[in-house]
Amino acid sequence: MLEFTKRSLMNKYNINERVLELYERALNDVEKEFKYYDEIREYNQLKVLKAFQEERISESHFTNSSGYGYNDIGRDSLDRVYANIFNTESAFVRPHFVNGTHAIGAALFGNLRPNDTMMSICGMPYDTLHDIIGMDDSKKVGSLREYGVKYKMVDLKDGKVDINTVKEELKKDDSIKLIHIQRSTGYGWRKSLRIAEIAEIIKSIREVNENVIVFVDNCYGEFVEEKEPTDVGADIIAGSLIKNIGGGIATTGGYIAGKEEYVTQATFRVTVPGIGGECGSTFGVMRSLYEGLFMAPHVTIEAVKGAVFCARIMELAGFDVLPKYNDKRTDIIQAIKFNDEKKLIDFIKGIQTASPVDSFVQCEAWDMPGYEDKVIMAAGTFVQGASIELSADAPIREPYIGYLQGGLTFDHAKLGVLIALSKLIM
Ligand SMILES: *Cc1c(COP(=O)(O)O)cnc(C)c1O
Repeated sequence: MLEFTKRSLMNKYNINERVLELYERALNDVEKEFKYYDEIREYNQLKVLKAFQEERISESHFTNSSGYGYNDIGRDSLDRVYANIFNTESAFVRPHFVNGTHAIGAALFGNLRPNDTMMSICGMPYDTLHDIIGMDDSKKVGSLREYGVKYKMVDLKDGKVDINTVKEELKKDDSIKLIHIQRSTGYGWRKSLRIAEIAEIIKSIREVNENVIVFVDNCYGEFVEEKEPTDVGADIIAGSLIKNIGGGIATTGGYIAGKEEYVTQATFRVTVPGIGGECGSTFGVMRSLYEGLFMAPHVTIEAVKGAVFCARIMELAGFDVLPKYNDKRTDIIQAIKFNDEKKLIDFIKGIQTASPVDSFVQCEAWDMPGYEDKVIMAAGTFVQGASIELSADAPIREPYIGYLQGGLTFDHAKLGVLIALSKLIM
């Protein structure tokens, strides 16, 4: 570390010798991991580059369309670039998706019909899907349930998909039309599903059922491994552009990729039957979606490195973490168990003070709609709520687990963790 860096960290940010010592040790310990992720990054960068070239992307694709948006070549070509990268027949990438939940909802509503059953096999799905499914019978929001789509759930067993129960259910219930798999844990103290595990699960499903639609919620997962769920048999996936695949540059949007018939059905839900993906002007944002995608393999690995470094330094500082620094990852989230309310809150506040935007803001725990406990969130981001940017959040409940993710650059993620940790180690 150069003298200026060290003096600034110590004088301006109150980072003491002990934290700097942990920093040196952690950086040293993660070297092998970083080498592995550099290779993943190179592989995915080549995958993206090749797709741009094969689809002959040129400046004319960064155009502006208006009105109906017929023949918006930038939009239509980006769909093909995504399909190329995900190794799928089709893809649908739009700034019109308001978030990842919207893309997931479209994929589900588009492909399920009355009397079909959707079966989640990773236990309780991500919170924002509950109203889509209709978990709470009394809520009248136009959920799948209200349209006659049934829902089943197979709980995890020892943190793994209970494949025997899944197979039994498939054998005895032929109304099961779609299986829902979630790659990232979201916010839970358990490991995410690696692509090799998703491959095994899909193989087992196919032993008993050829036709069931396998849907994977791919949020937070893109470009962390060399393969994606669609490389190992998933029929349709969805995700958000303000996470990994937008590269921190896309300012909004979502995507769906998969078999043509399933993607097409989803497009009819985003617009209307008969129109699907053929209309939709793109407000001049296409350049940012292309550029973000091009940057995404790099930015995703910067965030992963931030998470790996965080895991190691927090572990060295005496905290339990999940995943461990040397676990092979499939998403960008790092969970840290603080076992102490004050430490948790101080850490999250520390991440806020380390942000480029709104660093002067004090974050507070508050009663957020839809959550049972108070929640505290740190996000000083360029794109509102973008979780590919350095951010952290936590429900205020025992055992006081905080979740950290993102970082457009590893240096920022690293500094953020140092500054946050120094609030705990005085
Ligand atoms: C982020 C995320 C979503 C979608 O969340 P949005 O905030 O709507 O983009 C869905 N599932 C998982 C696992 C996620 O991490």
